[in-house]
Amino acid sequence: MNTTAAFAGLRCTDCGTTHDPAAAGRCPECGGLLDAVYDHDGDVEFSGHGLGRYAPLLPFRREALVSLEAGGTPLVAVPALADELGVAAAYVKDEGRNATGAFVDRGVALAVTAASEAGASDVALPTTGNGGQAAAAHAARAGLASHSFVPSRTPFVNKAMINVHGGDMTVVEGRYPDARAAFEDQGEDWYSLAPFENPYRHEGAKTLAYELAEAVDLDGAPDAVVHPTAHGTGAVGLHKGFRDLRKHNRVDAAPRLYAVQPEGCAPVVDAVEREAETVTAVEHPDTICGPLEVSEPTGGRQVLEALRASGGGAAAVSDDALLEGATDLAAGGLTMGATGGAAVAGARRLADRGAFDPDDIVVLVNPTTGNKEEDILRSHLMKQGI
Ligand SMILES: [Zn+2]
Repeated sequence: MNTTAAFAGLRCTDCGTTHDPAAAGRCPECGGLLDAVYDHDGDVEFSGHGLGRYAPLLPFRREALVSLEAGGTPLVAVPALADELGVAAAYVKDEGRNATGAFVDRGVALAVTAASEAGASDVALPTTGNGGQAAAAHAARAGLASHSFVPSRTPFVNKAMINVHGGDMTVVEGRYPDARAAFEDQGEDWYSLAPFENPYRHEGAKTLAYELAEAVDLDGAPDAVVHPTAHGTGAVGLHKGFRDLRKHNRVDAAPRLYAVQPEGCAPVVDAVEREAETVTAVEHPDTICGPLEVSEPTGGRQVLEALRASGGGAAAVSDDALLEGATDLAAGGLTMGATGGAAVAGARRLADRGAFDPDDIVVLVNPTTGNKEEDILRSHLMKQGI
């Protein structure tokens, strides 16, 4: 495999044994989740653009990356929101401008690279939609077959684009756990791209931290990052990424990380509020925001550790509040998805709780372009007679 000099393999987060980088899935010894580890110190130099810019802190060499130029997304200042939140500055990291219009492109790009490097012919995953679209596009780029298992409620745009990119798709009646069960029952020897069961998904998400640390507007790390959370690859990736940057003396401090989930499906928020070590599955998840409807995140423990270690926390928001958050920022010109609206609503909730200081610089992550969620945004306005 075209691994970087620094990459030392995959370590089990439960039993601590180290495994071959070609492994996909859980620890063969104990069934725990694997995590990429590195053996490097001192200064690192970044050059180029996109994910490849950060290759010295990633598992695979720049020339090996399956690339549709994910990453390099803009950071957009939102002064009116900063005033409302009572903070020094607020920005939206607009992940909707990625290759397939979603944050998941970062992790999927790295996971498909790993599949390609491991000699896989087929990749597969259960997905609420955006991950499947990203997987179909990146697998197509790599010349691999992709198989997505999506719940029936997945938006039409995701289903259509999975097919348009040449991906195979199984639509499963029900919600994400039903799609996940169908994925687990498929019985094929396909390379898994499932979040956390494939350790490269959250590894690719680290690049979000690197870009924030390099953003000229920020002059170092922000004070807080508010991230809509489903599986939690964003929170875990941000935490790992800022830990790397501190180790290599690129930033003095890491931001507080805040996870936001809809009230109808908030297993991470619930665990934070109970000060629990692990998440408990939500029995009857129900939110208008499909990408955030993951009732039992596989990497729940890792997400909770990341939030706790950063000194951050979590907030749950109503469907109406997240739709209002998205349409408020859209009214100011941003192509904000309903999913990103959760970050706006969450930041408002956190500000009310006194989570921010007046001199804080706060970044809200918009994981998905509003162009993929236009129907629920429009119907929210229509309900108000607009
Ligand atoms: Zn293990």
